[in-house]
Amino acid sequence: MADERTFVIVGASLAGAKAAETLRAEGFTGAVLLIGEETERPYERPPLSKAYLQGSEEAREKAFVHPASWYDENNVDLRLATRVTHLDPVAHTVTLDGVDPVRYDKLLLTTGSRVRTLPVPGAELTGVRYLRTVDESDALLAHLRIASNVVVVGAGWIGLETAAAARKHGATVTVVEQASLPLQRVLGDEVATVFADLHRANGVDFRFGTSVSSFDGDGTLSSVTLTDGTVLPADIAIVGVGIQPNTELAVDGGLEVDNGILVDAGLRTSDPDIYAAGDVVNLEHPWLGRRIRVEHWANALNGGKAAGKALLGEPVVFDRVPYFFSDQYDLGMEYSGFAEPGGYDRVVFRGDVAAREFIAFWVKDGRVLAGMNANVWDVTDDIQQLVRAGYAGRPVDLARLADPDVPLGDLLG
Ligand SMILES: Cc1cc2nc3c(=O)[nH]c(=O)nc-3n(C[C@H](O)[C@H](O)[C@H](O)COP(=O)(O)OP(=O)(O)OC[C@H]3O[C@@H](n4cnc5c(N)ncnc54)[C@H](O)[C@@H]3O)c2cc1C
Repeated sequence: MADERTFVIVGASLAGAKAAETLRAEGFTGAVLLIGEETERPYERPPLSKAYLQGSEEAREKAFVHPASWYDENNVDLRLATRVTHLDPVAHTVTLDGVDPVRYDKLLLTTGSRVRTLPVPGAELTGVRYLRTVDESDALLAHLRIASNVVVVGAGWIGLETAAAARKHGATVTVVEQASLPLQRVLGDEVATVFADLHRANGVDFRFGTSVSSFDGDGTLSSVTLTDGTVLPADIAIVGVGIQPNTELAVDGGLEVDNGILVDAGLRTSDPDIYAAGDVVNLEHPWLGRRIRVEHWANALNGGKAAGKALLGEPVVFDRVPYFFSDQYDLGMEYSGFAEPGGYDRVVFRGDVAAREFIAFWVKDGRVLAGMNANVWDVTDDIQQLVRAGYAGRPVDLARLADPDVPLGDLLG
């Protein structure tokens, strides 16, 4: 008998596209609607601040989650340039562009996140740029090709990756950051210093302990004034001051929301027929012992797949180790786990930090809470095992943890 059910996915990006793929891979034959307000079919964002922003044409094609023909071939009704404006969980409908109600049996929200903006004078000037979408990456790339002076506001992942791209294009780059090191909150002083040194070695000038008081220019940006009074000449200001989850639709539907859509470990929201995945969720993580909102690629990829299964009623426990990666100049890194500022008592290094070939472990009472491999590869599985064991209360010998001659896999004995 034909499956008459309709599954609607709102948010046509990585998490949404992976959920649609999983539905078909698992044999679902009902209707699948994948709705997104962007004009491009689902793509991955990481290249937008890396290879693509450095001018690689190949990176653009590779960024798409599926070939254009995939959606028709798999009978996935992809509606682009369409915004879902209303959610009625009682009627089981979503409204498209304010007019068109569509009925769902199960709904998946993968609405992701958007950039935080900087509300200072001059924010509307041409040349003040943000980076979230492929269009913004296109525009930034075109501008970087001709820019002389680039000011990056915020030394987080996006800020640092775009700083590296701007250096590649030959611009003078100044990074402005309120804290006293880049990535300080995420990595702590010991590892943050590695990134400060890396960028300085590549010609980046940092201004720490200050922020932007205004963007200046006559229609077009010409300089950035900092709160300490410094005036920096600028053709481009790239603002990377964080993101916020797109929870408006969930709020509209009366779902529970608190720093993201609240979901249980099975990715189910407070409504039994509505699930959520990717950047937008605040997950009740099964073994971290807390809720967590993860704003990274692997979480969207794996969360999308898990949500596809959850929509089908398969038992799902989304218990992955939080993971992200970054590439800046010749440094590639992966981070697994979760270590909050103040939540660990020391950082243990294994390898050659000066040569930027090492693993760093964030440790509390001998337990590994997180690990970051920099220019050391094929260790993620081992690091994630250490993190799982650490959260389960199992300590490791720290001298052996620091010793590159001891295989990571031997540490748990
Ligand atoms: C420049 C850049 C570089 C990155 N680099 C890395 C990296 O190196 N490593 C890493 O781990 N992560 C990286 N990330 C993060 C990663 O890309 C995100 O975690 C991932 O994109 C999240 O996917 P998502 O599907 O949950 O949401 P999103 O990608 O945010 O997509 C959500 C989609 O939903 C749409 N939408 C929202 N509301 C509605 C609505 N009401 N109606 C219709 N459509 C709607 C949005 O327009 C959007 O297309 C990067 C992000 C950016 C922007």
